[in-house]
Amino acid sequence: MKHEFGRFGGQYVPEVVISALNEVEVAFNEAIVDPVFKKEYLYYMKDFVGRPSTLYYAENLTNRLGGAKIYLKREDLNHTGAHKINNTIGQILLAKRMGKKKIIAETGAGQHGVATATAAAMFNMECEIFMGKEDTERQRLNVFRMELLGAKVTAVTRGTQTLSDAVDEAIEQWVDRIEDTFYIIGSVVGPHPYPTMVREFQKIIGEEAIKQILEKENRLPDYCIACVGGGSNAIGLFAEFIPHKEVQLIGVEGAGKGLDTDMHAATMTLGSEGVLHGMNTIMIQDEDGNPKPVYSISAGLDYPGIGPEHAHYKDIGRIQYKAVTDEEAVKAFLLMSQVEGIIPAIESSHAIAYALKFIPTLPKDQVVILNVSGRGDKDVEAIEEYIKNNNLNLVQK
Ligand SMILES: *Cc1c(COP(=O)(O)O)cnc(C)c1O
Repeated sequence: MKHEFGRFGGQYVPEVVISALNEVEVAFNEAIVDPVFKKEYLYYMKDFVGRPSTLYYAENLTNRLGGAKIYLKREDLNHTGAHKINNTIGQILLAKRMGKKKIIAETGAGQHGVATATAAAMFNMECEIFMGKEDTERQRLNVFRMELLGAKVTAVTRGTQTLSDAVDEAIEQWVDRIEDTFYIIGSVVGPHPYPTMVREFQKIIGEEAIKQILEKENRLPDYCIACVGGGSNAIGLFAEFIPHKEVQLIGVEGAGKGLDTDMHAATMTLGSEGVLHGMNTIMIQDEDGNPKPVYSISAGLDYPGIGPEHAHYKDIGRIQYKAVTDEEAVKAFLLMSQVEGIIPAIESSHAIAYALKFIPTLPKDQVVILNVSGRGDKDVEAIEEYIKNNNLNLVQK
């Protein structure tokens, strides 16, 4: 089997799924080099999503930390409040080009489901979202948000009734409906060509960032830092910088309640090689190779695997991976809100938390780009509760 990323990636799926994947791969390879497709994608990125997102010099945070200059890539300013919409619009344009009439997707906490339902509403496509039953109960508001946007949400009752099971269900449903249906995956995960395709639709983040930093600083950054769940916002920022060896790239995952507990989602720090959701990658697994339940305060980082391209870059040492705990992320969430007037997503707060520890050690003439993958309005209630239950100070200033 061909693997796109060193020994990682591949298509570990039943034979019936391979032909569906081949159809997507052929269409994608044609579309991505077609100037008409590119133009259409860029039109929606600009006029619907609101791109380019700004690269903002975080002067207050820079002064406070006393180290490198910090620039924030503001994916939180996109329509729907995060980077996920870049990918769902790209894939739905491909679906349209292939003549598909219906969209299906999996979702964990509901963020990818909402981004998919948004794109489906705009393109007037029928949309069904598969979501673990337990997740539908934990994230009732996102279920309603998807329904409000016109999508059907189907609760998945198999297995642990969470994200992993929703992925399995979506793949099975896709095979049955392949004639008229396109499956939109939410991160740089799954069988080929999805990890490549999602990267291509997210790399606009880094393409903009490299232009913006050259305008502002007339040089490349020394570091780029982003949080990693499946890894799409991180690869989106990093892709353009990969060939520039002098730029160091750091992905930050969820250490949950601590690396010495069972309550974490630190795939790169504590996981091992295995097959998950159709790809060979690094994952948190039991002795039989099944994904183990993972935990993070951040729903978007709560995934037992990671994109195979990340596994490869870890292997060859091109990207470093760090983990920060719930508590560190919550403190970063508060600090960014209070120092910069920007409420970041709790996912993004993991990248910020690592930056808080790391940046004070850097010389002042260095430059860091920090990806703010989304806005934190969705997290405000959970943060309030966390502060109460853990006797944290609200004021971090
Ligand atoms: C879903 C999500 C993430 C994690 O997904 P990646 O594919 O790792 O980017 C991070 N930040 C936000 C705001 C998200 O919604």
